[in-house]
Parts: sequence; structure tokens; C-alpha cells
Amino acid sequence: MADERFEEPFHWLFGDQLGPHFLRPDSTVVMIESRSVLRRRRFHRAKAHLLLSAMRHRAAELGDRVRYLRAETYRDGLARAVGDASVTVHHPTSHAAARFVREHAQVRVLPPRGFLVEPDAFSRWAESARGGHLRMEDFYRYVRQDHALLMDGDQPAGGKWNLDTDNREPPPKDRDTLPVPAPYLPREDAIDDEVRADLDRWERKGEVSFVGRDGPRRFPASRAEARRALRAFVKKRLPTFGRWEDAMLAGDWAMSHSMLSAALNLGLLDPAECVEAAEKAYRAGEAPLNSVEGYVRQVAGWREYMWNLYWYFGPRYRESNALGHHAPLPDWFSRLDAEAVEARCLSTTLAQVRDRGWVHHIPRLMILGNHALQRGWDPAAVTDWFHRCFVDGYDWVMLTNVIGMSQYADGGRITTKPYVAGGSYINTMSDLCGPCAYRPTERTGERACPYTAGYWEFIHRHRDRLSHNYRSARAVKQLDRISDLDDVLRDARRRDPDAAP
Ligand SMILES: Cc1cc2nc3c(=O)[nH]c(=O)nc-3n(C[C@H](O)[C@H](O)[C@H](O)COP(=O)(O)OP(=O)(O)OC[C@H]3O[C@@H](n4cnc5c(N)ncnc54)[C@H](O)[C@@H]3O)c2cc1C
Ligand code: SF4
Repeated sequence: MADERFEEPFHWLFGDQLGPHFLRPDSTVVMIESRSVLRRRRFHRAKAHLLLSAMRHRAAELGDRVRYLRAETYRDGLARAVGDASVTVHHPTSHAAARFVREHAQVRVLPPRGFLVEPDAFSRWAESARGGHLRMEDFYRYVRQDHALLMDGDQPAGGKWNLDTDNREPPPKDRDTLPVPAPYLPREDAIDDEVRADLDRWERKGEVSFVGRDGPRRFPASRAEARRALRAFVKKRLPTFGRWEDAMLAGDWAMSHSMLSAALNLGLLDPAECVEAAEKAYRAGEAPLNSVEGYVRQVAGWREYMWNLYWYFGPRYRESNALGHHAPLPDWFSRLDAEAVEARCLSTTLAQVRDRGWVHHIPRLMILGNHALQRGWDPAAVTDWFHRCFVDGYDWVMLTNVIGMSQYADGGRITTKPYVAGGSYINTMSDLCGPCAYRPTERTGERACPYTAGYWEFIHRHRDRLSHNYRSARAVKQLDRISDLDDVLRDARRRDPDAAP
């Protein structure tokens, strides 16, 4: 960067490009707060608050260097900020925004920032993949080697690439919360108050409408807060991250997760500094390898893989619907109406989304996504819901995670089999089933667990496809052995598709 000479006087920062690595030396910065983005869709209020708060915190830091526009659209904002002058921007994070900047002759697009692997390097890796099969595990090893991450010479630290088997512990039986220090909590300031007053005013005037509750802000809105949150995580919570990575407790929404995804996706943190901090803790003997490897796998593996696949698969990927699922999202789900739901796991998770716009990856995948998949909800609508309701949701991260990973709508390009499971999995990995009105082992009758019944119904519905997949063929064989399948299917037919479980 230091050697580059720019002719353009202006440099544009999108709202998810807020860290120092997105700046360009000696340029006037342009930032545009587009109202139409909020008007178009019904976002979670905490997400709208976080995004605007982070943008305004950045503008306050940049002071005289920034032209900060509140405009109806980006087009309008750009014209008002720079007129016909030339402007640079780092590669945006969505297909729509990439198209927009490409269509404007006055905008020159610089390489992306905020990720470890350049798209060209990913394409080279993908083209060299054995038999054209892309596997996250292979990509992850490539990243570890290429970035000398958690390596001892040319071998993985500790001799193993993957410590996942150490990272699947159920939660402790005798506790409501993990014995782990609470996550970092930012302190709100006058900028947060101002954003909240704006949201109130726009809502009162009927200009925008939100779902969910907002406040207090739980996620970093400035670089200083994000650095503090990273330090606190590495010091206090990383040591137990691996062990309980997949576990859930009704009374512990954060468990031992980092809760840094929103800061990373706003560009406040760079992934390199996150994985380097984790590796440093391991080398200093402050965090065990299973936790550090687990965390590095998430950031340098999964996050990079999803980002690069977004571009590699292209914009039509969002239309994937291999299972032919077309059911609309029920109203109670769209409204985050946790009280309408009897199933304790789903009600608890929906309430957590309503209150914070965040839950960790297992509730996302095995409670919310699993339910949507079992009920055959339209994958594009499910993707839109996740995008709007999660503080860390952006187009690039939603498509591959929801269309691919969670809804199997791409027919297996990301995961080898659908992530669908019955109540037993949830019962093993959480304390949610005990007081529930349903029983995880029952699939028919009054107390039938909707997840267990939904699992068999799903396997039955897609038996042809699943029986041809070596990873799911066993489930079809099990289906053929259950004696009360007709009753399960009869109960499913009786159920109002919109009724909350
Ligand atoms: C259905 C579904 C939807 C998801 N939607 C999002 C989303 O909108 N935004 C988002 O950032 N992540 C998403 N994820 C991935 C993951 O659930 C979140 O990144 C994680 O829960 C965020 O919490 P955390 O920061 O505490 O993560 P940790 O558990 O502490 O993990 C560490 C970091 O790894 C990264 N990461 C891990 N898995 C993924 C992944 N699959 N894709 C991208 N980054 C990953 C995140 O940056 C995260 O901060 C989704 C996963 C599923 C199954
Ligand atoms: S019994 Fe079924 S519905 Fe109830 S909490 Fe367990 S998995 Fe969820």
C-alpha cells in the first residue's frame, strides 16, 4: 500500500469496511449512510443500531478527513459527496454492491481487505483440488501452510490438523451456565443514544420497521472496543472454547464463544490479528491446543472458505433449491414470536435471537436451520430471515451458510449430507429437553418431539436422494425399520403447516 500512488482524491468506505486496513493514505474518506437499505427489508433493530453506531463512531474518529453523507441511496450519496470526481473503494462484500461499483466509471475498485486468502489464490487452490472436489478440510490445511499458522515446521502444531473430536463435549450436567468469565460488554455512549433516537423517529414516522429488541449494545462498534473484546476473549474464554464449542445451555446464551463475528464482519478486526492472538496464547501455554486449533479452524478455515465460495459460486447460487422446498416462513417465526412456540429448544433460541440478534453456530444450524429444513421452508426466504435477524449477517456469509450448509439447497456442494437431526442430538448437547412439553425420543402422539418426528418425515420425503448418498444411506435403512412410520406421516399431515411446534 505504501508505494501505491493514487490519482483519485477520494476513498469510499462501505459500512463493513471500518478498520484501519480499509483506509487509503492521503485521501478524503467518503461514507454514505443509505436509508433505502433499512427501508427495503425488516431488519433486527439491534443490527441496524450496531451498523449505524459503528459507522458514526468511525466517522467521529476520522474527523475532518471524512465526508459523511446521510442519503436515500448510495448513488445519491456518492453524487453529493464527490460529484464527478474519481473515487477508490476496496472490493465490496456483496454481488449487488460489486455490480454497483463496477457500473460507475468514476469508481476504481481496489483488492478486497479483511480476509486472509485472495480470490485469485482461492481459484488456483480450487482448480488444483483433487478430482474437482472442494473440501473445507483441504482448504484449511492449505491456509495453515500458506500462512504458517499453528505450524511446527511443515507439520501441524501438536502433530494433528484436526482436533474436532476433542471439541464436542456436552455441557456440564450440574450447571445452568458454564464456569467461564462473562463476555466483554461495551459501554454505550452519546453516539449510541443518537442512533437510537434516530431509529425511534424513523419508526414513528413509519419510514422503517424492525423486528427484535435493541439495547444495550452487546457487540463492538469501534476499533478500540473490538481490540478490547478480542483481548478479553483470548485471555479469559479461549481456553474453554474448544471443549464446549457445540454445547448449549438454556441459561447461557454466550457459552465460551468469542462473539467477534460482528466485529470481524464490520471490518473492525482483521482475521490475521485474531488467529495470531490465539496462536500466541497457545505458544505461551495460556490456552490448550484443542481450543486454539478449533478457533483457528473457524476463522482461517470456515470464514475464509465461505467468503471465497461466495464469489466462486457466483450470484446464481442464491437460487439453488435442490430439494424443491417452497413452504413460506410462518408468521410467528418471522416475528421472532418465541412465546408462540411450545418446543423449548426452538422457543429459547427464538427468544435469544429476538433479544440479541445472535446465537452461536449450533442453535443456528441444529435448531433454527434444522427446523426450517425439516419443514421444507423456501431456502431463499430462510436466507433472507437469517440475514435480517443476525447482527453478523451479510450477503457473502449468509448464502453459503444457509443455502449450502444449513438447507442443503445446493445439493451437497458445501456439506456431504444435510444437517438434519432429531431430538436426541439436541438432548445430548443441551439441557433444553428436560422441562420441555415434548419427549426427544417420541415420534408419535401427544408428546412427540417435533424434531424427532420431523427428522423421519424429512428422511421419508427425500428417501431417493438420500439413499444414493453414502453418508445418508444408513438413515434410509433405519427408516425402513421403524414400524410406526405411517403414524408419523399421518401426524405430520394433520399438523397445520403454520402452527408453531
Ligand atoms: C445457518 C447459519 C447461519 C450463519 N450465519 C452467519 C452470519 O450471518 N455471519 C457470520 O459471521 N457467521 C455466520 N454463521 C457462522 C457462525 O455461526 C458464526 O460465525 C458464529 O456463530 C459467530 O459467533 P462467534 O463470533 O462467537 O463465533 P465463534 O464460535 O467464536 O467462532 C469464531 C469465528 O469464526 C468465524 N466463523 C465460524 N464459522 C463460520 C462460518 N460458517 N462462516 C463464517 N464465519 C465463520 C466467525 O468469524 C466467528 O467469529 C452461520 C452459521 C450457520 C450454521
Ligand atoms: S424434546 Fe424436542 S422439542 Fe423439546 S426441547 Fe427437546 S428437541 Fe426440542
